[in-house]
This record gives sequence, structure tokens and C-alpha cells, in this order.
Amino acid sequence: MKGFVMGSDQRVVRCARVSFGKDEQVNRERDIKLISYLLRHRHASPFEHVIIAMEGSKDLWLRIVGDLPSPAVQVYYSGNYLWLNLRNYINARELFPEELENLVSQHLPATMSLFMGKEPEGYSTDDTYLKEKLETSSGWVGLVDSLELGTDMDYYTFVVECPLFVARQWHRHRFGSYNEISRRYVDYEPDFYAPTYLRKQAQSNKQASLEEAVGEPWNSLFLKKINWYVQDLKELYKAMMEKGVARELARGILPQFMKTRFYWTVPRVSLDNFITLRTHEGAQKEIREFALAIESLVGYRGSDKKLRL
Ligand SMILES: Cc1cc2nc3c(=O)[nH]c(=O)nc-3n(C[C@H](O)[C@H](O)[C@H](O)COP(=O)(O)OP(=O)(O)OC[C@H]3O[C@@H](n4cnc5c(N)ncnc54)[C@H](O)[C@@H]3O)c2cc1C
Repeated sequence: MKGFVMGSDQRVVRCARVSFGKDEQVNRERDIKLISYLLRHRHASPFEHVIIAMEGSKDLWLRIVGDLPSPAVQVYYSGNYLWLNLRNYINARELFPEELENLVSQHLPATMSLFMGKEPEGYSTDDTYLKEKLETSSGWVGLVDSLELGTDMDYYTFVVECPLFVARQWHRHRFGSYNEISRRYVDYEPDFYAPTYLRKQAQSNKQASLEEAVGEPWNSLFLKKINWYVQDLKELYKAMMEKGVARELARGILPQFMKTRFYWTVPRVSLDNFITLRTHEGAQKEIREFALAIESLVGYRGSDKKLRL
């Protein structure tokens, strides 16, 4: 059996710890405790960032799909490989050959031991935190990992830091997995995107903007006011933290310019769809810059063109 795994025990932990904005902080002992906690409490989404590809026939895939314990378990087929993430694997492990279990356990010794109720002997880590990182005017995107076998289901994991309104647009791309900072957990001073100038509303297209600043003195005046309001809201937020207001409510005053951070694990077909839709001139400039950055990191293959709708 030929198989591949993208990810590690540490990757699961990073994707879980991003909720606290602490994905860069890793420590073997605490990480193993966290994986155990995630498994016990069924905090399952961090396990979606580990990807498994197993070589096999379409018949094998159909047999497995026919026996899945629930329609919520997804196993895909592309380019002679069965593709699934670790969450799906854990939910349907019995349907796969033992060799795959050995492979997954080799790559994720702590997670798989804990899942089997055993004391972990090993713990796997990532080679690097980020392979490459590109800045945009409103944030940055980093390539964490990829599993490229020349199929439409090749997988990629990115870390993105961007304003809330960009994240809202991004998360509409449902075919993929996300884990994001939660302002229910963190209370540090947020970072804000500050545009260098205020683009004009386009008249021809309701949702578009022009690469042209609104006239003066309004451009400078509004930028100054935005900065003033953001500073004021930051102070109000800080005061609320000091007086014990719940983080989950206090965050309500933080505006859409606030930056967030998330992990995104996405198959090639969905990534190409994202690049097509978000590099288009109809997409907002800020997300367009991210889509172009991603295209320059991992390229565009046109796999989305096979879709009619
Ligand atoms: C310029 C622009 C303007 C937009 N404006 C709005 C707006 O005003 N309001 C708004 O709500 N959204 C808006 N969107 C978001 C848009 O409707 C999509 O939700 C988003 O672009 C994600 O695209 P997608 O569904 O193809 O991607 P994904 O959700 O990643 O899906 C990838 C592919 O998987 C398949 N797929 C996934 N889920 C399903 C499903 N449930 N059923 C069938 N097939 C599925 C489809 O083939 C799809 O192409 C806008 C997007 C753009 C680019």
C-alpha cells in the first residue's frame, strides 16, 4: 500500500492553539495533554488539518463509501488515491487496511496512541513553522505545508492574518477546513488594518471600488477620524477587560478593520476555485491581493474549470 500523510501531532496542536493566538508556542508535554483533551472533548476540527492519501482503486473507494458509519464522514477519490482528513479517518478507521493505520501512527504517534487509549511514546513535529510567507497591504499569508500528488485533491495548509471583513469573505469557501483565533479566549490588544487611502465607490458596479482616493480634504479627514475611533475603541476594550467584562461580549465593539488569524487546509479544486473567484476584478482589492499571493506561492492549475456551476 502506498500512502502519504500531511501533518504531525504538532500540527494538530498549532491548529487548536490558534484559538488562543498561541499557535507558535509548542511544548511536547503540554501539547500531548492538549491532544488528549481535544480527543476526550471531541474538539475535532484541529484534526481536519492532517491529510491522508492512500493509493487504491475506485472499487475499493466505493466499497468504503458504501460502508461509512455516517453521511458526515467524507472520503474523496482523485488520481488513483483515496483522500480523507484525520477526523474522517478516526471516524471510519475500521474500513481501511491495517497498513494505513501503521502509516498514520508513524506520522502521528501521540495522537493515534491517545486515540487508542495508550500512553504515547512518540511525538511528531513540523520541520518548520512556515515554508514561505508573503505580505499583502492588509496582512500576510504563509504556506505551512502541501501534499502534491498531481491530483485535484492535492492539499495545502496556509496561515492567514487579515482583517475581519476579508476573513468573512474567505470563510464562504466551504470546501476546506478552518481554525481561527477566538476573541472569547484572547484579550490582548488587537491589531488593526489601516488603509493608506480611502478608495472611491465605483458607480458602474455596486460592490466594487476604484483605485482612486476620495477627494481631499475628505480622504485625510476620514483617515484621521478612523484612526481616532480605532484608538478610542481600543481604550474602551482595555477598560472593559480591566473591569472584568466578559471577552465574548466586549469583542462586540471591535470593528471590521481588526485583524484575525486562521489556519486554512484546502484541496486543490477548492483552492483553484478560490483563486479564480478572488483574483477576478469583481473581488475586493484586499482579498484579491491574498488570492494573488497564494497563486504565486502554489500556482493555479485550473481544476475548478471542470465544474459547471
Ligand atoms: C465577487 C463576489 C461577491 C460575492 N458576494 C456575496 C454576497 O453578496 N453574499 C453572499 O452570501 N456571498 C457572496 N459571495 C460568496 C459566494 O456566494 C460563494 O459563497 C463563495 O465565493 C465561495 O464559492 P464556492 O461556493 O464556489 O466555494 P466553496 O464553498 O469552497 O465550494 C467549492 C465547490 O464545492 C462545491 N460545493 C460546496 N458546497 C456545496 C453545496 N452545499 N452544494 C453544492 N455544491 C457545493 C461547488 O462546486 C463549489 O464550487 C461572493 C463572492 C464573490 C467572489
